[in-house]
Amino acid sequence: MTGLLDDLAAVLGDNLLLGDDDRRLRSRDYSVRSELDEWRGKITMPAAVATPTTVDAVAAVVRVCLAHRAPIVTRGAGSGVVGGVLPSPDSVVISTERLAGMRDLEPADLLASFGAGTLGIDAENRVQAHGFTIGHWPQSIDRSTVGGWVATRASGQYSTAYGNIEDMVYGLEAVLPDGSIYRSRSTPRAAAGPDLRHLLIGSEGTLGIVTEVTFSLRPLPEPGIRQAFHFADIEAGVNAIRSVVVPGWRPPVVRLYDARESRRHFGEHVPRGRCMAIFLHEGPPGHAQLEAAAVADLCRTAEGESADSEAVDHWFEQRNIVPSWTELFEQGLVVDTIEVATGWSKLADLYHAVTTAVSAVPGVIAATGHSSHAYRSGANLYFSFAAQPPDPDDFAATHAACWNAAMEATVAAGAGIAHHHGVGRIRQPWMADELGPGGSALLAAVKKALDPDDLFNPGAVIPDPVA
Ligand SMILES: Cc1cc2nc3c(=O)[nH]c(=O)nc-3n(C[C@H](O)[C@H](O)[C@H](O)COP(=O)(O)OP(=O)(O)OC[C@H]3O[C@@H](n4cnc5c(N)ncnc54)[C@H](O)[C@@H]3O)c2cc1C
Repeated sequence: MTGLLDDLAAVLGDNLLLGDDDRRLRSRDYSVRSELDEWRGKITMPAAVATPTTVDAVAAVVRVCLAHRAPIVTRGAGSGVVGGVLPSPDSVVISTERLAGMRDLEPADLLASFGAGTLGIDAENRVQAHGFTIGHWPQSIDRSTVGGWVATRASGQYSTAYGNIEDMVYGLEAVLPDGSIYRSRSTPRAAAGPDLRHLLIGSEGTLGIVTEVTFSLRPLPEPGIRQAFHFADIEAGVNAIRSVVVPGWRPPVVRLYDARESRRHFGEHVPRGRCMAIFLHEGPPGHAQLEAAAVADLCRTAEGESADSEAVDHWFEQRNIVPSWTELFEQGLVVDTIEVATGWSKLADLYHAVTTAVSAVPGVIAATGHSSHAYRSGANLYFSFAAQPPDPDDFAATHAACWNAAMEATVAAGAGIAHHHGVGRIRQPWMADELGPGGSALLAAVKKALDPDDLFNPGAVIPDPVA
């Protein structure tokens, strides 16, 4: 260990952090599993935290870790919710926090580059000052990094119009597991073999460290039009949002809530037992009015009833408020969220299958869901559950049982196990189901070729070898 720390100190100087507080702060993400560990005083700290300031320094740290066979866990801002940042005691956390700030802006080409550790809200504010938007607005925008967005294949709240992170990333720079540096070509599209950026997008620190992200920007739109409708049940609501998206309307925000969540989020704005759908329309001049009118017609045809648009205003005001898991533990509650995806024809059935399966876990007092990202061929479902186990010693087991129930129901329905939070360590046991034998072997082969000693975020994402 001393040799590792000495060699890291030689390349990092003051950017090597060894103090207990520094290591503890960077030894977890925002997953319930991490927070439970910390609440119960069971946190595992890495051997060291590296905070390099340049891509060359990242590469130098990787080479030192390779020489000492020290596992590497990359960390952005630690807002991940699936246990992507859970370092072992012999590992080195490479934190991107000092790889921050705007590197370049090309207004004519609508491009902006940022160090991977730039906080999302800082990147968005920088481009908004020039009349642009990235168009990516995750609920965690003020606590996640642009590199983390790429690493987890994130989605923002405006995805139905603007796409997910993979649609916004124009270019990437990364340090690969052998310490070499990869830079993607800078071109709006290429038919030049497989798109290598996609080896890194969603790789969650297992195939490299993203050090810089270039976004393709959009002009900042005028304030949009907001409207809401409520429906008899989840089937009617799904039918309505399908009828909006399939012909080609793309409101940036399309969200449909089940009856319990509708009351929780919109209170008296929605009659008890009805399912609320909310929309935001924006775009070039004239587009929002046209789209809002068409969507209103489609929702009424699908037997929706108009709700007060103040309901949507309320959602906008509340949308970035974040719960504290620990406060909920103190109240005896274990709460978490799980997002999955499937085609239109299976969406309502999947909703019922997952909420029923999770509700059957002993101690569960609520299992609810909404859809927040819609596509031509289907949508996501975002489930929330709350459980009240009789004893805090049972929190971890109850939490695991809820995840197990949700994932098994999702796999049984032939749906996708992860829409936008990624895999981390919490979903890793279901990756073999997600990818199938051929896909699992392909990903394992890529991993072996790039990282033969399995030093990059071991235990995350990559399915276990078939026995
Ligand atoms: C309240 C709340 C709301 C959220 N809302 C959303 C949402 O709307 N949409 C959404 O998609 N997600 C959401 N998330 C999840 C989380 O914010 C995203 O997964 C985010 O992209 C993680 O970014 P981060 O910088 O915090 O990454 P971290 O949590 O630090 O890391 C996440 C994973 O990525 C890896 N990683 C991080 N940076 C890099 C890098 N530069 N190179 C390689 N690997 C890296 C880590 O090793 C880890 O495996 C939410 C989380 C919270 C707590």
